[in-house]
Amino acid sequence: MPLVSMRQLLDEAAKGGYGVGAFNVNDMEQIQAIMMAAKETKSPVIVQASRGARQFAEDLYLFRLIQAAAELNPEIPIAMHQDHGNSYETCKSAIDLGYTSVMMDGSLKADGKTPASFDENVEVTRKVVEYAHERGVTVEGEIGVLGGVEDGHGAGGSGLDHITDPDQAVEFAEKTGVDALAIAIGTSHGAYKFTKKPDGSVLKMDVLLAIHKRLPNTHLVMHGSSSVPKDLQDIINKYGGNLKETWGVPVEEIQLGIRNGVRKINVDTDNRLAITGAIRKVFAETPEKFDPRDYLKPAREAMKKVVAQRMVEFGQAGHAGDYSPVSIEQIAKGYKDGSLSTQPLVTAK
Ligand SMILES: [Zn+2]
Repeated sequence: MPLVSMRQLLDEAAKGGYGVGAFNVNDMEQIQAIMMAAKETKSPVIVQASRGARQFAEDLYLFRLIQAAAELNPEIPIAMHQDHGNSYETCKSAIDLGYTSVMMDGSLKADGKTPASFDENVEVTRKVVEYAHERGVTVEGEIGVLGGVEDGHGAGGSGLDHITDPDQAVEFAEKTGVDALAIAIGTSHGAYKFTKKPDGSVLKMDVLLAIHKRLPNTHLVMHGSSSVPKDLQDIINKYGGNLKETWGVPVEEIQLGIRNGVRKINVDTDNRLAITGAIRKVFAETPEKFDPRDYLKPAREAMKKVVAQRMVEFGQAGHAGDYSPVSIEQIAKGYKDGSLSTQPLVTAK
């Protein structure tokens, strides 16, 4: 099956009332882990690459691996997504390569660090939407600024510094026509999200609910949403690692989000933890081994386990065969004739 429009994946998820995990990849083993999990749980899936990943793996290696995943798993709808595009050029290069979805993160300037103004964000996102939609490619925008830094991208600081304003979210969706919207509700990138189990004072689910009420046609995206489970932290520390105690986003909060318009959930840290724990274990228990397959295989297996669990928890499991993918050309027509419009029910004040 060719790569599928992310918009279609998310529209179907909205109909079915479930969320779709978007898992980051840098190499073959991670792609294989995701596909093994998708196959086992019969899940549609979003695979995403950051700018850092595209650089690390070289664009073409990574993209060809995704194409191989699609060819080897014709029963699984796969969308290939650019995570945190920092500029029009980055998004355009992903679209030209064949990605079926891009994130234009205009909440930051092109340096990927400095918060941008609302008008700057609207301008660059609108430009990406025009180029992408003409080609049937999905666009995710971001309003408000996430906390932390990952892959050199992020404003740093706490997730509470730039919480999304619901009025601005509506105005942003109206002016840009994005398909999906990442919002800042207190989450951060990386492993160190919260210093204790998060409650309503640090994780603003009420803001998410307010935004969804006014933007029911725009799919909401939760970033920085690894759960950072204690057992994965423990394995790393047991075998010589040195992670400080930390908390992620509890799965039940993500599920509350899914009941209120969240359709895409980004997960990277949990997979990184699973891989590193598995490799550390092999190194510690069998220091005589030196064949990379001896530790890459358990690493791949550990990531597959986490991904499969999230697929079940997000509700996407069992939905791979629910629909036939529409061609990207067909999707482009939908944008042109207005049938895929995401305009808010109530316009901004
Ligand atoms: Zn993110």
